[in-house]
Amino acid sequence: MSAISGKKVAIVGGGPGGLTLARLLQEGGASVSVYERDQSRSARVQGSALDLHEDSGLAALEAAGLMDAFWANHRPDLDRLRLTNEKGTVLHDHPRQLSGAGQRPEIERGPLRDLLLDSLRPGTVQWDCKLKSAALDGEQVLLHFGNGETAVADIAIGSDGANSRLRELVTPIRPEYVGVALVEGLVPAAQQTIPELWELLGGSALIALGYERTIGMGTKPDGSVLLYAGLKTHDTSVRRSLEEASGGEQRVAWFRANFEGWSEIWEPLFREAVSTVWRPLLVCPADQHWTPRPNVTLIGDAAHVMPPYAGEGVNMAMLDALVLSKLLLADETPAAAIAAYEAEMFARMRQMSADTMVNTEMFYAPDACDRVVALFRSFGSTESMPPLSEA
Ligand SMILES: Cc1cc2nc3c(=O)[nH]c(=O)nc-3n(C[C@H](O)[C@H](O)[C@H](O)COP(=O)(O)OP(=O)(O)OC[C@H]3O[C@@H](n4cnc5c(N)ncnc54)[C@H](O)[C@@H]3O)c2cc1C
Repeated sequence: MSAISGKKVAIVGGGPGGLTLARLLQEGGASVSVYERDQSRSARVQGSALDLHEDSGLAALEAAGLMDAFWANHRPDLDRLRLTNEKGTVLHDHPRQLSGAGQRPEIERGPLRDLLLDSLRPGTVQWDCKLKSAALDGEQVLLHFGNGETAVADIAIGSDGANSRLRELVTPIRPEYVGVALVEGLVPAAQQTIPELWELLGGSALIALGYERTIGMGTKPDGSVLLYAGLKTHDTSVRRSLEEASGGEQRVAWFRANFEGWSEIWEPLFREAVSTVWRPLLVCPADQHWTPRPNVTLIGDAAHVMPPYAGEGVNMAMLDALVLSKLLLADETPAAAIAAYEAEMFARMRQMSADTMVNTEMFYAPDACDRVVALFRSFGSTESMPPLSEA
């Protein structure tokens, strides 16, 4: 008998954390449903590639029996991260350790999600179920979705990302805006549409730094390039003017207005991007904690969102899934399993969240070029990093 024998487990959010947890619990014989807001598995283009780490993301996939599927889908071509200044002058090429001891192989988010979805029993994921509210009902949890449906569970686990709705049942502590926002955009057929930047990118990934701004670029398998342009701002008109830009030339004008001092070589990115999305970066307090609930908990970004400047977010989400699944499948009560998981998670995340904020400050400092290049030079290719590398 495990803590969850005969109990209904609801996982809210079918990202990498939630799907990994669903797979691990199903493998252990649990009854699991995943409630996901997307209308279907193909409803949305999945963003950047991710590097998975041996002792977290890869360890979870190993425990889930999915390493063959992982290697069949990874990106061996993302083998270098190039650092430049705001003029596009190359400062450093950082090799990546994609195999062997200490490896950090890369995978696109889409194939990662697909391989996890394919590993679940048919019907496990309920699509078009955006959680609107949740309430405790005796020993159960009542979930209300935007499509008008409801579900009842014995245990509810929130893996619904940075703006988690289930978090409200667990703690009043909300993530805070760190003062940096990213503009995400996709440039199709990049070899043809942005040939000079394509050349500079060299088939892998790049981060440009300068004047308290960043531009990250990464190749996608279909020849498109994903753009992440980052800037420090608390001015709502900066977001508004981007969202009101009606075409390429207006986006270029936005870039010129907000990336003062940057070379015009980057302008084609903004001219050719087919869409742009504003993504404010959020962080949960490093020292956050709450009194454990007996039957509700959080994993991944829902529990501890942080900026992507340590490259650990997805790895921590998948490690949360591994730790929590082991405890729930052990001979404990759900309440004891959740309390033990949260104690481990708070301790693990405290330093990581703090370190990530140190890196965030560094990437947006006036002397970011010198400091970030020195940081990368101090790393072996296997060590912690890079953020946005996959862009
Ligand atoms: C630009 C960028 C680059 C990054 N690079 C890296 C990196 O290199 N390495 C790394 O480790 N991490 C990186 N991260 C962080 C990483 O993407 C996240 O930490 C990771 O995706 C968290 O996984 P998750 O499953 O907890 O949440 P998510 O991936 O956010 O998934 C949440 C899921 O819940 C669903 N959902 C949301 N709200 C609801 C709702 N109300 N009801 C139902 N479903 C809902 C969403 O549709 C989604 O499917 C990066 C992040 C960004 C923004």
